[in-house]
Amino acid sequence: VMLITMGVFWLLSILMSMWMSRLTMRPILRSWGRQTEFVGNAAHELRTPLTIIQNKLELLLTKPNDKIIDQAENIAIASSESQRLQKLTQDLLALARSDSNTLQTNFEATHVAQFLDRTVEPYTEIAASQGKKLVMEPVADFKATLDQNLIHQLMNILIDNAMKYSPKGSTITVTAKLVNRKWQLIVADQGIGIQLADRKRIFDRFYRVDTSRSRQTGGNGLGLSIAQWIVSLHHGTIAVRDNQPHGSQFVATLPLNPENGLTSRHEKKPK
Ligand code: ADP
Repeated sequence: VMLITMGVFWLLSILMSMWMSRLTMRPILRSWGRQTEFVGNAAHELRTPLTIIQNKLELLLTKPNDKIIDQAENIAIASSESQRLQKLTQDLLALARSDSNTLQTNFEATHVAQFLDRTVEPYTEIAASQGKKLVMEPVADFKATLDQNLIHQLMNILIDNAMKYSPKGSTITVTAKLVNRKWQLIVADQGIGIQLADRKRIFDRFYRVDTSRSRQTGGNGLGLSIAQWIVSLHHGTIAVRDNQPHGSQFVATLPLNPENGLTSRHEKKPK
């Protein structure tokens, strides 16, 4: 009886320790799973343009007597895929920096209206070349402490998306407002809009509402997760809402002085 009781206790203690170790291992396993998923997604995204470039180069090598016009088309496709690769590697590097918290930020007091004018100006030409209008609405005179490079990158992502997902003839509006000791950067478009169910997920890494459309427009599904990281480095938030009568409005709400009263430097990483 003693032996059986000891055996049962021994078995129970093994089962208990297995259950406990599962509990302690769970967060590690989960983050490992996320990491593996990220690497898998990144590899998948890299593979497609690489395969296209490889195919086009092989065609050029094996069929040197093809018509010049066909050769030029193959070169153009290879070149646009290599641009996609370049953008993808830049985005992956930004996310690696966000994961390792190794980015050196440079916060400085900035006249928001002037800074936005300067930043938006080059995009008006790009929009015009696509038959769209980019309008900078008047902004009140106020200063905010921000990292100019990062906010420039944030605006690049939001304006680029607004242009990608809206039709010719439409207008994209950029503005900034002071709201309760914070400021808001708003980029609004008259494009295809975003369904309620997708709004939470669009900030996830590699998430795209319509993969084929996003690929056609050169998207990799990383832009908004980088946007969210930039906003969180400024201790702000970012949200999307409907634009009237249609389209989307991205609103980044940022403190006027993100460095004030901070006790923790833990930034929310992109999902
Ligand atoms: P992508 O590189 O695919 O544009 P993002 O992370 O920037 O990746 O955006 C994620 C997805 O959110 C996009 O694939 C698109 O489906 C949707 N999206 C982003 N911005 C807009 C917008 N202004 N209008 C409509 N859909 C948008």
